[in-house]
Amino acid sequence: MKRPICRHGETRPGAVTVPLKRGGMTIVFREVPALVCENCGEAFQDAAVTAALLEQAEQAALAGVEIDVGRFAVAA
Ligand SMILES: [Zn+2]
Repeated sequence: MKRPICRHGETRPGAVTVPLKRGGMTIVFREVPALVCENCGEAFQDAAVTAALLEQAEQAALAGVEIDVGRFAVAA
């Protein structure tokens, strides 16, 4: 799990683009909910979002996707 590098910045809800690579596959998720640090601009996904991203990447890999750009869909 990712830990914030700067602990002094305030975070606020935002949406980011997250590229994931797995083997020869590249998948880009758009509009992923995240907390964005107002100090350094780094974005953090919570554990549930991270798990969902990895799950969707896994399914895409199983489906034989080589490159994809999609809007992240939150199941819950
Ligand atoms: Zn920061």
